[in-house]
Amino acid sequence: MTALGLELVIVQEEALLVKEVFDLYTEEGWGVTKIAKYMNEKSQTKEGGKWDNKTVRNVLKNPTYAGYNHFKAEDWPEEQRIITPGTHPAIVSKEQFEKAQTFRKRRADGHMSRRSFDYAYSGIIKCGECGANYVGNTSVHSGKKYTGYRCLNQYAKGTCDARSISETKLSKIVLAHIELVDDGFQNPKAKSPRNKVNLPKELEISQKRRRNWMMALGDGKLSGDDYAALIDQEEKRIQAIKEKAEPEPEQTIPLSEVRKTFDDLKSNWQLIDTSTQKQIVQSLFKKITIKKSDDWHIVDMLTV
Ligand SMILES: [Zn+2]
Repeated sequence: MTALGLELVIVQEEALLVKEVFDLYTEEGWGVTKIAKYMNEKSQTKEGGKWDNKTVRNVLKNPTYAGYNHFKAEDWPEEQRIITPGTHPAIVSKEQFEKAQTFRKRRADGHMSRRSFDYAYSGIIKCGECGANYVGNTSVHSGKKYTGYRCLNQYAKGTCDARSISETKLSKIVLAHIELVDDGFQNPKAKSPRNKVNLPKELEISQKRRRNWMMALGDGKLSGDDYAALIDQEEKRIQAIKEKAEPEPEQTIPLSEVRKTFDDLKSNWQLIDTSTQKQIVQSLFKKITIKKSDDWHIVDMLTV
């Protein structure tokens, strides 16, 4: 507190609620109605009242929580609100506050699609400790953006002590796990038995026939044109037999090629944009349960 007692003091419990409202809004992508409903189940506003769309919105647009002071006279339009850096501690970072304002504007303009801030693994990862969802979360350290996932029961209720996991680590264990599952998946099918052709025998017969025709030609029993026609016919017949005798082309993609495609996907995974990653992940998996003992591992994986 300053000498004048004007400095804002954060009430710890309220600060946690405010932080959670911001997190649900900017990191989970929840709307104000869903947030209000959720907050009512676990808490009340500082005035002891109920949360509703308006109280949630008021929290989200209040610059005080990002460490600013602000003032607006009753009859001033919102744009004229005076916002200055404050000296009180911030509950949310300025980045997160700005993000919330961007979201609010986009939602108001109707540009907000659920997809735009979804996470690749949203709705799929389950906590191996308590079974709750692992939900996406973005944080910024030294100007670098980190995406991770954390147990909902852990961060929202404190009833679970499962650790959070970075998306990089999560992708690593998931991709490593699919490789194991994929092993043997592409085993070429047993070849269907084909009509057996004895090619050497056929060639021998053909030679004999040609010799006979040659002799008939020499004896004058066969005209040159007839001889040519017979040879031509025989060539075609032998060609057809040869094709029949050739091994059947491979029906399945060779495992080596599948491996290569998969390896490319794995090594380029971090370069693929989130919406594509999400399409791939969501088209492959229904549920992935993760748990950390010594290291992270996959307890259960349910494919689509
Ligand atoms: Zn948990």
